[in-house]
Amino acid sequence: MLSKADILFGKIAVSSGYVTEGQVDECVKLQESQKEHRPLGMILLEKKYVTEAQLQVIIDIQRKNLQERAIHSREKRADGLFGRLVVQLGFATSTQVNEAVRVQAKVEEDIFLRLGEVLVKKGFCTVDQVQTVLEYQKLRIVACNHCQTQYNVIMFRPGASINCYKCGNALAVPERVTSVSASGTIENDGRPIQEDPGQARAPGS
Ligand SMILES: [Zn+2]
Repeated sequence: MLSKADILFGKIAVSSGYVTEGQVDECVKLQESQKEHRPLGMILLEKKYVTEAQLQVIIDIQRKNLQERAIHSREKRADGLFGRLVVQLGFATSTQVNEAVRVQAKVEEDIFLRLGEVLVKKGFCTVDQVQTVLEYQKLRIVACNHCQTQYNVIMFRPGASINCYKCGNALAVPERVTSVSASGTIENDGRPIQEDPGQARAPGS
């Protein structure tokens, strides 16, 4: 039986370009034919389809991917409050919020969308309305002028110097917010929101 971790591992191995889909399929069949369950990575290594260094790269990508998922599941809990505020403020109906939650769940495997983003995409809310809700939550959208990455900052003080995680340039409140996407939530002293310890762990590691 192919585990979820193996499916993710196979996807990453193929997209890394180290192995072909055919090689992964062959190793999956081999795995299924063996009595003792062994990780897919070990079988790929035995067949010499990957080197140990390549295997390590794939494992690192997988670990990062799982960590991101843990962050997303935490942010989704914050979305629950966001959704209630949207309804309370009369910006959208609860039916619309529920529909947005369903859209969010459907695309979750591939990309993570914040509830606010989905509501704007569906035309249920305007960007201004999403910003108002974020302000209620004491969140402020700030952006990097250099690489355009946006972040939600908790209780952002104008003038506070926080640097972009991607390129290191200073973040500022944009003059006009045209999108409500944000690549992460950070504290007003620039620290990323603390992750729950022990949630993200690559299986088999
Ligand atoms: Zn940047």
